[in-house]
Amino acid sequence: MEAVKLAEPAVEERKDFIRTKGKQKQQLKCDADSVAGCVSQRACVYCGARVVLNPVTDAIHLVHGPIGCSSYTWDIRGSLSSGSDLYRYSFSTDLGERDVIFGGEKKLALAIDELVQKYPAKLVFVYSTCIVGVIGDDLEAVCKAAARKHKIEVIPVQSSGFIGNKSAGYRAACDALLRLIRSPDGELPSKTRSINYLGDFNLAGEVWIIKNYLKEMGIDINVAFTGDSSYKALKNATRASLNIIQCAGSMYYLAQKLEELYGIPYMNISFLGLEDTASSLRRIAEAFNDPEAGRRAEELITRESALVRDQIHWYRQRLEGKKAAIYVGGGFKAISLIKQFREIGIDVVMIGTQTGRPEEYDAITDLVDEGTVILDDANPSELEKFMVEKGAHLLVGGVKERPLAYKLGMAFIDHNHNRKHPLSGYAGAVNFAAEVYSTLCSPVWNYI
Ligand code: SF4
Repeated sequence: MEAVKLAEPAVEERKDFIRTKGKQKQQLKCDADSVAGCVSQRACVYCGARVVLNPVTDAIHLVHGPIGCSSYTWDIRGSLSSGSDLYRYSFSTDLGERDVIFGGEKKLALAIDELVQKYPAKLVFVYSTCIVGVIGDDLEAVCKAAARKHKIEVIPVQSSGFIGNKSAGYRAACDALLRLIRSPDGELPSKTRSINYLGDFNLAGEVWIIKNYLKEMGIDINVAFTGDSSYKALKNATRASLNIIQCAGSMYYLAQKLEELYGIPYMNISFLGLEDTASSLRRIAEAFNDPEAGRRAEELITRESALVRDQIHWYRQRLEGKKAAIYVGGGFKAISLIKQFREIGIDVVMIGTQTGRPEEYDAITDLVDEGTVILDDANPSELEKFMVEKGAHLLVGGVKERPLAYKLGMAFIDHNHNRKHPLSGYAGAVNFAAEVYSTLCSPVWNYI
């Protein structure tokens, strides 16, 4: 048997963030600030907040900052709406040099006035950016005055760049959602037999796929955080009797708070891949202690599995023995991807995330084979080095990882928010296998 080689970091200070399974026993360092001097693949705080809140369809999303920050718009997200499409606009206060010197509060107040007159919204999110943290504009005061003036909710999102990393942005977004949910008179709507679905942003309609599964089991989605959500639905979030969390990186904090403040229990689920989809449906039925829901879940699993079995088998025969590298935003996705790759005969040889939590890295370590490199908050040179060392044929990641793969002559799968096809549930599992096949087995690689 080949001896497991230790993965060496390019920069000494990064050594605690990188582990080789079977070679090192210590806990991987994660959930920490990026090492100075390394070009982290992580997005900024504001970006993290925007990922979470932008799918709220009927809100005005106003970015208080220079125009460049607002380039992060719906156009690079695939979040779909069944109602309003106001969220597809990206509004900005377009701060310039004068505002940096004299302050941008007046400009912000005028921008809110103008937007509220033009668009009939009940909710405005005002995102803080790096420069706002530096010049110290009082977002809280401006939003409060605007809310009073227009008699709508104007919620500041405290996502200035220097308060931490992308995870701090998730938290800022969750704090904004908690403010929205809180009823001013303290009265809560009564509970219903329904679920809040946390951490699904309705990319290519994925929330709708899961909604149909649960409906078949006799369980309704009260509101999804935040895919295809609306002001009214979010306001009634406390009606749900259970919170299920898909993207734990962005939503774990919100789930904890909803349990603490409103007594709604939560559980982690994942609808990526056949194994995790089936187990999540079963666990939801169990959580409701409902044998009928369990019976319907089994019917659904049997029917849907039979529909996709032959297709998955076809892809597996052609992909068996290939090696994959994974670098994604959160831990839940990384864990599901390991299992999903196994379903189509592919081994994972390198795996990392931008914002994974310690328990997620423990689960990853348990799942992967000896010799797999596991790393947190990677930089491009580490990704390139380990992918080459481990002989990966394919990288799955987001928009920033794509050029790394192509420069190495390696196949690439986009698992980020700008994709236009669903990867959730049974149909998503087939889409995933088809995409892996089309990129890995493309004739283009013969010309490199
Ligand atoms: S200026 Fe700051 S808030 Fe704006 S995009 Fe850049 S890092 Fe993010």
